[in-house]
Amino acid sequence: MRAPFTEAFIRALPKTDLHLHLDGSIRLSTLIELARHEGVELPAYTEEGLRSEVFKDQYGDLGEYLRGFAYTCAVLQDADSLERVAYELAVDSFTEGVRYIEVRFAPQLHIHEGFDAPDTIAAVAKGLGRAQDEFNASEAIERGNEPAYRSGIIVCAMRMFTQTFSEYYRRYVALHRFRRMDEVIAQASVDLVNAAVHARDDLGLPVVGFDLAGQEDGYPAAAHAEAYNLAHQRFLRKTVHAGEAFGPESIFQALTDLHADRIGHGYHLFSPDKVSHEGISDPDAYVAALVQHMADRRITIEVCLSSNLQTNPEIGTLEEHNFRHMLDANLSATLCTDNRTVSNTSVCREIGLAIDAFPIDPKMLKQIVVYGFKRSFFPGSYSGKRTYVRKCFDLYEALEKEHGVVGHES
Ligand SMILES: [Zn+2]
Repeated sequence: MRAPFTEAFIRALPKTDLHLHLDGSIRLSTLIELARHEGVELPAYTEEGLRSEVFKDQYGDLGEYLRGFAYTCAVLQDADSLERVAYELAVDSFTEGVRYIEVRFAPQLHIHEGFDAPDTIAAVAKGLGRAQDEFNASEAIERGNEPAYRSGIIVCAMRMFTQTFSEYYRRYVALHRFRRMDEVIAQASVDLVNAAVHARDDLGLPVVGFDLAGQEDGYPAAAHAEAYNLAHQRFLRKTVHAGEAFGPESIFQALTDLHADRIGHGYHLFSPDKVSHEGISDPDAYVAALVQHMADRRITIEVCLSSNLQTNPEIGTLEEHNFRHMLDANLSATLCTDNRTVSNTSVCREIGLAIDAFPIDPKMLKQIVVYGFKRSFFPGSYSGKRTYVRKCFDLYEALEKEHGVVGHES
């Protein structure tokens, strides 16, 4: 890794992962074990086999990237498996020094008769809580000398329903067959917000945010405006997968119609060629204004470098990735994994890739990492969050000194 950074330094740093899908981050050994136990057919039953058949280093397109989710969702259909996978995901993150994670998943993909959205959230919360308790039992944390390991849950609504949707949702669609499909999908999102608020307020579960995931193309976010409005009124924080496949207008729409606090990916923010709205006569000026708007309002972009390269092979090399422009424009951007298993990555790896591909100096790296803590949807009070962020910042600065990273500002 490029000096003055070292792998040991990156690993020791307190880090966040704000864009982390539960179903894309299952350990392959666990996937195999659960599939055997639940009779789910896999294309291979060894880790190497699954890596060469499904969970690859390179993908041809988004479709191939998404293939693995059908298998992971199929084995995550009860409380025990959700709890186990959430626990292992937290352990894997905490072990590489990620102190704060926001785990997201789509309850609609995991529910059945008698196993509803709040049940899925409770199972995930239990797994995360168990890992947290184990890691927070250290003396340094108990004495308050080090920041604790923390987590929150983001529930994802889906832009569309596909064959892989749970049996429950097939029946849900059948129940609403008198309505148009887009209306059914919109209603499902509204129902999910209500379930998330119930889980947070009545069950005391750490639900911190609401997200919209799934294929952008052909499934506009505007269809979910009612759900996002409701989430807004109920003080759920909001993020949206936007600008992954679509252009800058979809990001603008997420910020305005959906009140997004953060943007997932936002890759095509810098793509004036993707502006298609006829009311926009000067796409370059539009993009410049939108970038300024986001920088000024500190709208954070959850950047997932490996995932972007895998789902958009046309980007080419990492050096070509728009993260460079995000840094140049002083945007608030933080590095995330997206899917630890599907993208075969970790937070340390993503930071290492960024350091080697872009002109990041120690001051800039500190900003990128600290934005993750500052712009998190932290469960708890604002003063609690401030104290926590301060502790993480102090630890960061102590580690900079310990590892000889300070004084290298370029
Ligand atoms: Zn994602």
